[in-house]
Order: sequence, then structure tokens, then C-alpha cells
Amino acid sequence: MKIVFLDRDGVINEFPGNGKYVTKLKEFHFVPGSLDAIRILTKEGYSIFVVSNQAGVAKGIYSKEKLQHITRNMLRDVRATGGKIKKVFYCTHLSTHGCDCRKPAIGSVRKALASVNKSIKVAQKAFFVGDTESDILAGHNAGCKTILVLSGREDWHYMKKWDVKADYVAKDLLEAVDIINDRNMARSRLRVRREIKFSKKSQRKKK
Ligand SMILES: [Mg+2]
Ligand SMILES: [Zn+2]
Repeated sequence: MKIVFLDRDGVINEFPGNGKYVTKLKEFHFVPGSLDAIRILTKEGYSIFVVSNQAGVAKGIYSKEKLQHITRNMLRDVRATGGKIKKVFYCTHLSTHGCDCRKPAIGSVRKALASVNKSIKVAQKAFFVGDTESDILAGHNAGCKTILVLSGREDWHYMKKWDVKADYVAKDLLEAVDIINDRNMARSRLRVRREIKFSKKSQRKKK
């Protein structure tokens, strides 16, 4: 199963600014190319899950209903452009709540995989795309390949200070999709090569 986990703010939609949140629909703007990226991933057969921290709910800055409203619209626009997001997982808690769903924790990754009857082991073949250290850590903690996109909060320089570095860096989600597809092609090429080798061997044995 091909799986990609996406952060939301700074990846799918424009980063609202440090310490800020997307509190209403008017503030939700797709990053250029992100809808194309989601459509391409969908066509390539990826199951896409969104994993996003939205502590603004616990802080009382916006309601769960507002968040749902924004989500419904996002999913509608994704569908309208030929893409599909399988499920969206939000952590609406504060860091002090000690929940298991706030990234870099991986509760939501586990839940997403459980929703398609997969164990956490499957994450090792999945990608996690995000714009912050906590995304890269969450992806790493789950065992995913990680891609930092520069369309959001962090820039390239921040990563030098991180304990865990992203496996790849991309300009934005659209460029991240190239990396994901390339990686998969490399894997299938390797498999084809192995199969060719194997069939040659078996042919030799026959002679
Ligand atoms: Mg983000
Ligand atoms: Zn949480």
C-alpha cells in the first residue's frame, strides 16, 4: 500500500504566520501547486492522510466547528480537482495536555494506519511531508521517509540545528511529489533488475 502523510498548514495551504492559525475559511489559501500535487499522488495510487496540529482550538481561538467547516471546504476543492484525501487527523490539544496525537507524537499516524487495517510497520514505506521540525520528527518517529518543504514555516538553515534531519528537502508539495515518485520508480527498477537476474539464473539452471 502506497501511503503519504501530509501536514496541512504550510504544505497544503499557506502558512498563517508564526504563532498564528487559520481561524476562518477566508484565511485558507492553497499553496500554488498543492492541489495538482494531491491529484498526482491520488492518480499514482497513494492513500493520502493529513496529520495536523491545531492547538488553536484548545486555546479557544477558533471552534471545532469552524475547523470542520474549513476542512469540508478543503476536501471539496481537493475532490473538484481530481484528488482524494482519505482522512484528516487533527490534534486540537495543547502541548501540556500530554496527548498522543500532537506531533511529534505519532498517535494520529497509528490511527490513520489502523483505519486501513495496517500496522505501524507499514509507515516504513510511507512518506511524511511537512514544513516544521515537529513534522520531520513525527515522520521519523513513525519510521517514514521524511520530506521538508520550504513553502511553510522553516527554511533550509533551521535544519542544521535539528537532531533529526529530513531525508529530503523540496521547494513545495509539488516538488515533493517528484521525489516520492522517483523513489518509487527507483524501487520498482531495482525489483525489475532483481527479477531479470533471477529469471536468467533459472534459465541457466534449466539448460
Ligand atoms: Mg505546518
Ligand atoms: Zn492531541
